Amino acid sequence: MSTENIASNFIRNIVTEDLETGKHKEIITRFPPEPNGYLHVGHAKSIVLNFGLADEFKGKTNLRFDDTNPVKEDTEYVESIKEDVKWLGFDWDNLYFASDYFDEMYQRAIILIKKGKAYVCDLSADEIKEYRGTLTAPGKESPYRSRSAEENLDLFERMKNGEFKDGEKVLRAKIDMASPNINMRDPIIYRIAHATHHNTGDKWCIYPMYDFAHPLEDAIEAITHSVCTLEFEAHRPLYDWFVKECEMESVPRQIEFARLNMTNTVMSKRKLKLLVDEKIVDGWDDPRMPTIAGLRRRGYTPEAIRNFCREIGVAKADSVVDSQMLDFFLREDLQPKATLAMAVLRPLKLVITNYPEGQTEFLEVENNANDESAGTRLVPFSRELYIEQEDFMEVPVKKYFRLFPGNEVRLKGGYFVTCTDVIKDADGNVIEVHGIYDPETKSGSGFTGRKVKATIHWVDANTAVPAEFRLFEPLILDDAPENEGKHFLEQINPNSLTVLEGYTENIAFKDAKPLDKFQLVRNGFFTVDSKYTTSKKLVFNRIVPLKSSFKL
Ligand code: ATP
Ligand code: MG
Repeated sequence: MSTENIASNFIRNIVTEDLETGKHKEIITRFPPEPNGYLHVGHAKSIVLNFGLADEFKGKTNLRFDDTNPVKEDTEYVESIKEDVKWLGFDWDNLYFASDYFDEMYQRAIILIKKGKAYVCDLSADEIKEYRGTLTAPGKESPYRSRSAEENLDLFERMKNGEFKDGEKVLRAKIDMASPNINMRDPIIYRIAHATHHNTGDKWCIYPMYDFAHPLEDAIEAITHSVCTLEFEAHRPLYDWFVKECEMESVPRQIEFARLNMTNTVMSKRKLKLLVDEKIVDGWDDPRMPTIAGLRRRGYTPEAIRNFCREIGVAKADSVVDSQMLDFFLREDLQPKATLAMAVLRPLKLVITNYPEGQTEFLEVENNANDESAGTRLVPFSRELYIEQEDFMEVPVKKYFRLFPGNEVRLKGGYFVTCTDVIKDADGNVIEVHGIYDPETKSGSGFTGRKVKATIHWVDANTAVPAEFRLFEPLILDDAPENEGKHFLEQINPNSLTVLEGYTENIAFKDAKPLDKFQLVRNGFFTVDSKYTTSKKLVFNRIVPLKSSFKL
């Protein structure tokens, strides 16, 4: 299904045509994150699209850090972004920093000034906003609009030399204050910011605005197809204006597509940073975060994320994707890979009173129910086991076929066992269950004497390894957290994390390393957590439960 989807993508059609007509011999795309946070699954969509196009058409993709805003950017983010792009399975042809083009951008601004297409403006930010007009009312020209080129060149140089304070002056493009497109009403090109930049240090105290910088960056790198999200559609005339008026040799084409939105998910670095700063989550890589680092720690695989991104496709209209769709691709990817093993998340002791004390036998169980080549392993079985609390009910509800007094079930890969007794503490809580097993009923022995309606999993108490299990629910309760009216921080799910202390069988996890994937019988797919696992204790993150009601 994924290849078909590539075929129907309108951006791919544009690229195909541009290569067929000879407009371009080779395409060059770019992925241009601002290093002001960690990448999220929305970025993955852009990465898969940009790198995917270059891979398919034997072109190139640049990873470019769009680092034109000194205040919010950090090298920590630069490093994480590189790691995440690689982890997703892509490799850039060139790595660039927009800040490396500051000199060239400055020169291009001078070209505009000399042509009378840019001027230094002394209006305050509020005044500029007021003069800009509205969708229905034209803007008003700045009184500084008619400054001569000489005066503008002089003032711009003095801006660069640090003679003015932040906000005192800006450089603006001189376009059209009456344009129906507000973006064309003399937008700001440069602003003063006396701030240290993560790459250029204190060399600059003026910084280019995104709308000016981005088309220049694309043109400098000879990008052929500059793919961005829909909100930039109305900026495209400005993009084209800067490329033309700055006399760029190479002319990139901006193409917009719909950004990825997902149910129960906020997807803007600004909001994700707030979750981190407010300590609502345990860092950018918290397994509940939609960041690539979070998804990785949660146990999501690059294959599943890539397949998901291809399946959702590239469209011109905004929509919200059900987050369970990503889970669908995860299960599909994990099913053949994950080692099958048993673990009990909420343990209840089961004592098989007719099983000899001190005896242990080894039952042969498969490592992957769908793949014989994954082999089998021997799992110890003895008199005392742990079962899930939910697999026992003292007074069964209707249609409950698992363990209850007098009822018989199969222990997975083992024997039939009948519950005989319940042990309670002083408060009446069940703390132990007793039962008897039937040696005739061993799994694989061909026993056909009678049937049971339920099979439950278990862990041998003697050899059980204590482990912690972390279960997740969506971090955000509301299905459309980005809707107006409600702040997303008021929509935090108080049950997004459940930590359980349980047990695993011993053999399957003997050499378990962080990020190894397991299918824990009936409990779902899990990965070994990379942050809290120690040599003494395994901590598991549930990647996804085994089933969902979601259908693709
Ligand atoms: P954010 O609001 O999360 O900071 P952004 O668009 O400002 O997002 P950038 O770092 O500027 O983030 O984005 C790098 C690239 O990723 C851009 O080309 C942008 O269009 C794309 N991108 C960002 N978010 C999404 C999304 N949700 N879906 C698809 N593409 C996205
Ligand atoms: Mg941004």
